[in-house]
Amino acid sequence: MIAASNERPGRVTAGTSGSRTADHQGSGHTEPGTTAADASVSARPHGVDPTPTRVTAHERLGRSKTVSLPRTRLLERHDVADGTMAFYFDKPAGFEYKAGQFADYTLLDPTETDGEGPTRGFSLTSAPYEPRLMATTRLRDTAFKRVLKNLPIGTELALDAPYGSFTLHHNVARPAVFLTGGIGITPVRSIVLQAAHDRTGHTIIVFYSNKRPEDAAFLDELSMLDQTNEDFTLVATMTRPETSRRRWDGETGHVDGAMLARYIDDLTAPIYYLSGPAAMVTAMRGVLNTAGVDDDDIRTEEFTGY
Ligand SMILES: Cc1cc2nc3c(=O)[nH]c(=O)nc-3n(C[C@H](O)[C@H](O)[C@H](O)COP(=O)(O)OP(=O)(O)OC[C@H]3O[C@@H](n4cnc5c(N)ncnc54)[C@H](O)[C@@H]3O)c2cc1C
Repeated sequence: MIAASNERPGRVTAGTSGSRTADHQGSGHTEPGTTAADASVSARPHGVDPTPTRVTAHERLGRSKTVSLPRTRLLERHDVADGTMAFYFDKPAGFEYKAGQFADYTLLDPTETDGEGPTRGFSLTSAPYEPRLMATTRLRDTAFKRVLKNLPIGTELALDAPYGSFTLHHNVARPAVFLTGGIGITPVRSIVLQAAHDRTGHTIIVFYSNKRPEDAAFLDELSMLDQTNEDFTLVATMTRPETSRRRWDGETGHVDGAMLARYIDDLTAPIYYLSGPAAMVTAMRGVLNTAGVDDDDIRTEEFTGY
């Protein structure tokens, strides 16, 4: 494993002990002989590290050592929804991660950059059993994404990963219910594909909200999993189906307590997972709290920068 750390500034994770915000200073790297819990988390705020190196625990201990980050290469990219692109990278030798974690990618010699710098954090959309790494992003018109979209295949980037604790709980007696929408699907794809691959036995329901089917990345893949895996249910809902070019026969409207109750007998039984831009996560937490779900049973991954 290249690095192991649970949290990094700029994101909020709520585990079984409730919400907490990571604002530590330090490195995300684990020293040999230490555990992930021993290591401090990254000191770098989102997108401000100008170089693809980072300070290690050695330096915090007063010893000088800077570790170059491992390199990855862009292998392929293609559209996965309107305005949304998946990027495939090679998996460096020895690199391991858990489904649901994320990675920081640094452009090494970008043709342009801006105040946000050459680094972005993206959830690992790939499942760990898959041979390549995948990142998926909304292609907004920012310097980083303009460069990424046009990067020649084979270009090297620095990879700083894995980070995060937005991973599936162990107790299979408790269902896992994901509430997500739009780009928030990225860690969910990784988790549900890995769970199906490993036959973990979890009952998993994914509520996936988008304006139109055209906006919903991995919709066909997840629908196929729904049809072939009895432990997995996809509840895709469209909030603006009338604007779609495609026919839509599924759920419509925002996810609310009534929709949840149609698919979940006991709303207090599952562990809930919320992922996506902060406003979306806040809204979904509100839905769950209104439905009587305790914060202890809600885990979140907020995508800062949206
Ligand atoms: C744990 C974690 C996981 C993440 N996973 C993903 C992921 O899987 N996929 C993903 O796409 N992102 C993910 N993000 C967010 C990602 O790191 C970037 O912040 C995000 O993609 C925005 O990058 P950007 O280059 O578009 O904007 P930036 O250049 O970073 O923009 C920064 C600021 O400018 C504003 N801004 C820029 N462009 C626009 C615009 N067109 N309209 C309105 N405001 C704008 C933003 O609101 C923000 O305040 C994740 C973040 C975290 C913390």
